[in-house]
Amino acid sequence: MDQIRIGQFIAQTRRSRGLTQKQLAQLLSISDKTVSKWECGKGLPEVSLMLPLCRALEITVNDLLAGHRVDQGEYQKTAEENMMDLMRENEENRKKLALSAICGGMTVLAVCSLVVIASFMELPAAARVVLVLLAIAAAVVGIGGAAVLDVGAGYYQCPHCGTLFVPTMTAYVKGYHTITRRRLTCPECGVTSMCRRRITR
Ligand SMILES: [Zn+2]
Repeated sequence: MDQIRIGQFIAQTRRSRGLTQKQLAQLLSISDKTVSKWECGKGLPEVSLMLPLCRALEITVNDLLAGHRVDQGEYQKTAEENMMDLMRENEENRKKLALSAICGGMTVLAVCSLVVIASFMELPAAARVVLVLLAIAAAVVGIGGAAVLDVGAGYYQCPHCGTLFVPTMTAYVKGYHTITRRRLTCPECGVTSMCRRRITR
């Protein structure tokens, strides 16, 4: 998906329909900042907004994703390419999330068994210390690995302006979170709030 090209196409089509960013935003019940962000190539419209946007601009979703009006001859080929692009992106995100869960699960198991061995087996003190150190190392590596995979999978959505964004590693680690939400600062409107995770656009 070429965000810059899609953004330019949205801007150009909107202008040719005689709409301002504000008017288009009102038609879609979103903020004009979001429209401006799409047009600057800083994000794609989320899936639920794609059809209403295309209706407002009188284009097809295929045109939108291709970033230009697709003519009849190449219509099917472009549609297939667009679909494959979207599917590839979603598949990669799912894989990363699954890996992250496996990585986290293995870490918990490894750390627990090391701690159990260290506490209950008859071992010299030095061996106990080594086992505990190993458990700490496994926890750091495993949880770090799970977090790296997790932060790269999918996006978070700002509840205020609807912007989808990938948080920085620092913000991700610091952010208070539940399973589906994380406290993050939106790069678009600057509001810090509980942002919902989205695997797909
Ligand atoms: Zn926002």
